[in-house]
Amino acid sequence: MAVATLSAAKCRGTRIDGKPCESQIVGPSGCCYAHDPTVAEDRAKARRRGGLASSAISRTRRLAPAALRDVYTILERALAEVHSGVLSAGQATAMASLARAMCHVLSVGEMEQRLRSLEESLGDFQSL
Ligand SMILES: [Zn+2]
Repeated sequence: MAVATLSAAKCRGTRIDGKPCESQIVGPSGCCYAHDPTVAEDRAKARRRGGLASSAISRTRRLAPAALRDVYTILERALAEVHSGVLSAGQATAMASLARAMCHVLSVGEMEQRLRSLEESLGDFQSL
């Protein structure tokens, strides 16, 4: 596989929505990895590997709290949209920042709940 480089040139490929691809990570073919016809077989192999990995990811997702699963799904979509030029890097950065804050709030809430539960258990123990 050819090494892609970051340059001022943009990919010659076309996105699914018919607009030109905005990726600036362009290989010798003048296309990004997603649109490069010379690495189509590599992409197919990567998709198959991704399918195997996604089963592990989906198992991990089921273990996460529902609110975090939704955040992950949205961020995963944003990553693809930044790559294809649909979403600006600035918008993605703002989304990631908000997601971090949401995760922090959920984490603090969970810790509060666990502490309350421990204190209640301690209270039950002391009343014996
Ligand atoms: Zn492209």
